[in-house]
Amino acid sequence: MSDTIVAISTPRGFGGIGVVRLSGDKALELTQKIFNKKIELPRYAYYGAISIEGTPIDTGIVIYYRKPHSYTGEDVVEISMHGGIKNLEMVLNHLISLGARLAEKGEFTRRAVENGKMDIFEANAVIELIEAKTEKGVLLASSRLFGKLSKVVESVRKKIHEVNLQIEATIDFPMDVEEIPHNVLKNSLNEIKNEIEKLLSTYRDSKVIIEGVRIAIVGKPNVGKSTLLNALLRFERAIVSEIPGTTRDTIEETIDFYGFPVKIIDTAGIRESEDIIEKMGVERSKRAIETSDLILFVFDASAPLTEDDLELAKFTEGKMRIIVLNKSDLPKALTKEELLKLFPNEPVIEISALLKEGIDAVESEIKKKLLNIDIDSILVSNKIEYDLLSNALTHIENAIEILDTGTLDLVSEELREAIEILSGVSGENIGETVLRAIFERFCIGK
Ligand code: GDP
Repeated sequence: MSDTIVAISTPRGFGGIGVVRLSGDKALELTQKIFNKKIELPRYAYYGAISIEGTPIDTGIVIYYRKPHSYTGEDVVEISMHGGIKNLEMVLNHLISLGARLAEKGEFTRRAVENGKMDIFEANAVIELIEAKTEKGVLLASSRLFGKLSKVVESVRKKIHEVNLQIEATIDFPMDVEEIPHNVLKNSLNEIKNEIEKLLSTYRDSKVIIEGVRIAIVGKPNVGKSTLLNALLRFERAIVSEIPGTTRDTIEETIDFYGFPVKIIDTAGIRESEDIIEKMGVERSKRAIETSDLILFVFDASAPLTEDDLELAKFTEGKMRIIVLNKSDLPKALTKEELLKLFPNEPVIEISALLKEGIDAVESEIKKKLLNIDIDSILVSNKIEYDLLSNALTHIENAIEILDTGTLDLVSEELREAIEILSGVSGENIGETVLRAIFERFCIGK
């Protein structure tokens, strides 16, 4: 018999409804000690009074889920009360005094995993859904909540298993079973390898959706970087000034950009400087450039190109860039054609950040460059899953290598390792370290 856990499952604060949840063998028995209606049927909503030591403190709805048909796979009771802080706490504390134990972080979901109600991919999806900051993040998490990754991983595992069965048969019954041609085996293993690699490759895109992308706004002082940042943010946030170099530090803002989290970094202009503080800013700019996924490279149309521009162009080489010709409202000293000569393979967009003209074109270029992602193709979306599949991949790669140099026994051993890793995503096979890694991200009540 497992102990019965209890927690407030709604966020702490004032709301219309607050939920206390119990899971474990005593969930119903304990609930009946505070609830005045007799709960006879599972999955029915009972309305009644909630009392502590005979004193009614609230009214609420109680729903009982009989095991195994519950979130955790155990007996679960959800008590929906009014969403205060104190009333919920009183009920929680009273249930604890009656014998329930305060749930640990993510313990409800952990029990669900341990009881085979969901695998670790789905558990990861739960936390990702809760933490999602954008619509795309929600869609990504929910597709996995419905077992998308689980199904693909299971099918890969089965394929490895089938190949291994064939190998084992030839090892165990060399007289009766015809040996599988070397190239057939190799092809099957390569197919499996490709499939896992394809899964792993979706991790990068998922990071874009969950963590967002970093865009650095780069250019020499006074070209209008801060003004462009403001225009992109659609409100004044960065300091705009006419003295070169006032944007000493970098300024970062995260915006929800067509459903993607995008972090925009306004960098100080890169140039030689004796001023210590500005130098620090310059260092940060270089780092910002290095760690960014895309660069908005800003030029001033009212001033001719300088050495600084060219140096910066060199420093940002190899990065994904969008060239922005700002201040196009002023008399021209630098044209789009000149920039196109300098950046023949990159888009050049004329704007006036001050008049907010051309900002839409910059936005749609960003979208085209970075956010051309098909959510449906993404399967792997966090480090735990990535590591697990990478591990399995290593064993498949070993197996392919050994196929040429070693014995079938050793090939089979590698395949069994891969199978074991991929089996370790559900039920009793999950290792404690994996479990801990997942559930330390949860909060109490989930
Ligand atoms: P930064 O040093 O690159 O961040 O440049 P700022 O954004 O601080 O802008 C420098 C100066 O240029 C400010 O006076 C801005 O008002 C001005 N400025 C920025 N964008 C434009 C523009 O599109 N047109 C005009 N005429 N002035 C601009």
